[in-house]
Amino acid sequence: MPAPLPRIAVSSCLLGNPVRYDGTDRFSESICNHLTRRFEIVALCPEVEAGLGTPRPPVRLTGSPLHPLALGVEDASLDVTAALMRFSDGWLAQAKSLSGLILKSRSPSCGLRDTPVFDRHGAIQSHGAGLFTRSVTQHYPRLPVDDEIGIADTKRRNAFINRVEQYALQRCRI
Ligand code: SF4
Repeated sequence: MPAPLPRIAVSSCLLGNPVRYDGTDRFSESICNHLTRRFEIVALCPEVEAGLGTPRPPVRLTGSPLHPLALGVEDASLDVTAALMRFSDGWLAQAKSLSGLILKSRSPSCGLRDTPVFDRHGAIQSHGAGLFTRSVTQHYPRLPVDDEIGIADTKRRNAFINRVEQYALQRCRI
């Protein structure tokens, strides 16, 4: 019997699911063409799974660059930080079965390192990870993680594949 494929989670919008705040997707050809036969893929949308629904008001990271809040773009009194953190904390147990994660760049939930963090006046003051990504990477610092921009780049994609395969091998030995 062939060995099971390493399991990775992917931001659901990158798989073509219409889960973004405005009901659209961000389908990634690179992920579909290069990774779906190598890995078992689990779709994940922190904002939908946190109960925010689709469509939903867009949010952005606001406030302290180290501990930003996810506040509404049009109405800053909308604060979905607690809902996202509750989902992220609950999801951490599932990450034990994963050997990798591919996340949507620049998202207030899923961004890896390029999500803008705004000040209270609406100006970008820094860039960092989305709230879900912060939680997962803090708890699983060795878990291979990249975004769709990295996967579109051959060298980065191959490096990610190698890291996932190594991580999966080490998980088997534990
Ligand atoms: S970026 Fe993340 S939270 Fe936003 S729609 Fe895609 S999967 Fe959902």
